[in-house]
Amino acid sequence: MAKPSRFDDESTPLAQRIAVGLSKVGLSLKFQAWQAAGARGLSPTQGQVLALLLTSRTGLRPSTLAERLAVTPPTVTDTVKALVAKGLVERRADASDARVSLVVLTAKGRAEAKASASWPDFLSSAVEVMAPPEQEAFFRGLVKMISTLQREGQIPVSAMCVTCTHFRPNVHKDPLLPHHCAYLDAPMGARHLRLECDEHDEAAEPARSEQFAAFTG
Ligand code: SF4
Repeated sequence: MAKPSRFDDESTPLAQRIAVGLSKVGLSLKFQAWQAAGARGLSPTQGQVLALLLTSRTGLRPSTLAERLAVTPPTVTDTVKALVAKGLVERRADASDARVSLVVLTAKGRAEAKASASWPDFLSSAVEVMAPPEQEAFFRGLVKMISTLQREGQIPVSAMCVTCTHFRPNVHKDPLLPHHCAYLDAPMGARHLRLECDEHDEAAEPARSEQFAAFTG
């Protein structure tokens, strides 16, 4: 029986995160699917921005959108301007820095993003066929795979635990809660690893590589 952790309450279901992870692996296919959404009046980049904003509780800075989507800041500026004109996103002041704005979904934008990003829900039902231990092992492997693809520059960077400066891999003896998040000061199991986190702070090299080696070790 696993010890309780703060992450038990704060984590989204593991099956859901596995589905989100698979959707990241298939990002290039998803981008093509967004092109089919042209009939909905969205460009692929506009669709990607909506999908990314759907994963954030607080909204994202334009610079973060550019980094996660591997596009230039002017592209993000133009895309956000178009989405604002469609009533799908709005800009709000960032409470932590009044000089910076956050891009957040409007109610209309959230509905549009959910309608267009139904693939993870579809995958969730297939993933739930696996038993919880199988799901955890699968998720751990998936995180390794995504992290490797990111390091190789094959897919855009996402705000995941294994690249976060607050992540402490394999520091606890409990095999079910071997990792630790220094930001939330809580132990974590593979089932708690996040693929997108608002508190993520990208670790710099060589710490990031050493961290990944300790995680996979
Ligand atoms: S702050 Fe970092 S280590 Fe903690 S949950 Fe978020 S991404 Fe993971």
